[in-house]
Amino acid sequence: MEFTVLGSGGNSPTPMPTCDCRVCEEAREKGIPYARRGNSLFVHDEKVLVDAPELVWESLNRESIRAVDYVFLTHFHADHTLGLRVLQPLGMEDVPVTDFVGDPPTLVVSETTSERAIEANEVFSHLTEVWSDVEVLDDGETRAFGDLSVTHLTADIHEDGDGAISGFLFEDGTATAFVSPDENRHFDLDRLPALDLWVKETGYFPETPAGEPLVTEEAAETTLAHEMTFEESLAQVRTVEPGRVVCTEIEELFRRSYDDYKRLERDHEDLNLEFAYDGMRIEL
Ligand SMILES: [Zn+2]
Ligand SMILES: [Zn+2]
Repeated sequence: MEFTVLGSGGNSPTPMPTCDCRVCEEAREKGIPYARRGNSLFVHDEKVLVDAPELVWESLNRESIRAVDYVFLTHFHADHTLGLRVLQPLGMEDVPVTDFVGDPPTLVVSETTSERAIEANEVFSHLTEVWSDVEVLDDGETRAFGDLSVTHLTADIHEDGDGAISGFLFEDGTATAFVSPDENRHFDLDRLPALDLWVKETGYFPETPAGEPLVTEEAAETTLAHEMTFEESLAQVRTVEPGRVVCTEIEELFRRSYDDYKRLERDHEDLNLEFAYDGMRIEL
């Protein structure tokens, strides 16, 4: 299996407009790998795009990706869906045009994501109706997409039983990879088989590398109460013991530069831990 990280950022990509912090200034000056777009991954084997943040349109061009057959969404949040207009160029008929719509990609989502990201939104309802075929996967369902077998595993984001987050288990007969870029906290890890690769949420850091607080105690107990910390994320890695782990959804809010993550990789060599960066290629 082959993957390209189109965007390794999170809800707060790097650099953030108007921010003059050390990490954003450096990202503006140096670009990739210091700059991080919203979270998105491409699976080359069957031309699967996982998630559609705002700049995915640009990222597909940057990586010279010539075809996308499937678009998987992990959840309804804006930072994973606002780039869905990319369905239009993906499905557009070549000239001379008859009715503009050629061979549209298949949008693969859970029932909850379909309800919350598409049906509840007139813009996305119209867009996906015209520019995609929609397939809804149940929790635990395994389906073949070309030569890839994909199992859909859901979890709650807020412990409310809505199964709002989807993870996708990709298997090609030789390798097994679980892609769950965000909201990993409530995944039932017992459902995972032995993994060659886990592309997972990094989890948040309460402090800068220098020990300055990044969130208040109040935020940790309220706004961030359902979010996982980096330490909790590491505990998940120790439980699952994947052959390789690539941490993504790296928020600007973490106030760490590419070089800081390189240092963190060295600190966690025992876990085969790597941090994603935009353009990163992963081969299994
Ligand atoms: Zn996100
Ligand atoms: Zn900043």
